[in-house]
Amino acid sequence: MDQSRIAASAAARSSSRVRTLVLASACLAAALTVVASPAGAATRGAPWDGGYGYVSPIEQRFADIATLLSNRAARAYCNSAEQWRALGMDDDVVGFVPASASSTASFMQVSPFACSYGDRFLAHPQRSGQKTCARTQVEARRRAVTVRRLLRIHGRVVRRLVTVWRKVRVRVIAQCGDYLNTIISIETIAHEAMHLYGFQDEAKAECLGMQLSTVVAYRLGADPAFAYEIGKDYVPYYVAKRADLPEYWSADCRDGGRLDLWRDQAGWPTPLFSSLDGVRVPSPGG
Ligand SMILES: [Zn+2]
Repeated sequence: MDQSRIAASAAARSSSRVRTLVLASACLAAALTVVASPAGAATRGAPWDGGYGYVSPIEQRFADIATLLSNRAARAYCNSAEQWRALGMDDDVVGFVPASASSTASFMQVSPFACSYGDRFLAHPQRSGQKTCARTQVEARRRAVTVRRLLRIHGRVVRRLVTVWRKVRVRVIAQCGDYLNTIISIETIAHEAMHLYGFQDEAKAECLGMQLSTVVAYRLGADPAFAYEIGKDYVPYYVAKRADLPEYWSADCRDGGRLDLWRDQAGWPTPLFSSLDGVRVPSPGG
């Protein structure tokens, strides 16, 4: 118990010391992000349960991924809404790594938003349920059905087969309402890992993070095909940052551009590797 209090207060102290810098480099989601908790409360504990001294499964997974991508022993702390506010953060901030001009902390602070969606993804990292959701709805589109009706024709009542329109309940497969929030949360972990690596510049962290979000999705349990799809699906959101959040966008962030991690290999944002297991950060560009 003491251990957890010490860890919590140490983290809080270190955060408050760098509050000014952190606010300057806090990692923002673009304005179009809907900040909300995922629908359907998890039956297991919340990602932030136990305070900073207890490592929840998603915190461990985030830490392992951050360690892999940043080449240093890294930790990840999930925050409840109350903890997030206590750190001076609002809902626009999805994560941050405390830093000063000369050094960068070895841990990332992750928002309740990114922890919740990350945790939900870890529990079910399948395309069906994360990207595509089935729902039943009454279709405006009508369906023609043939029925028997009694009709009066030239004064005589006759039985005829006629076609009428019926509204129908249909099962449709559509993109899940939370999918964008989910891929933002996945990319956030890669983005923060690049801060841990030592890149303080937001445009660089965001560009490298986008290229590594395929790896994060894979490390959270997605199969390679879905992991690559997630990486690609983040690209339009990145492109929108040029207008929405220009300090997170760079013209050099493109296939073959100065910020391309794998400049000699085709494929954007992540080249098609024979296996994602061995993918590390090659000496980042620029
Ligand atoms: Zn950042």
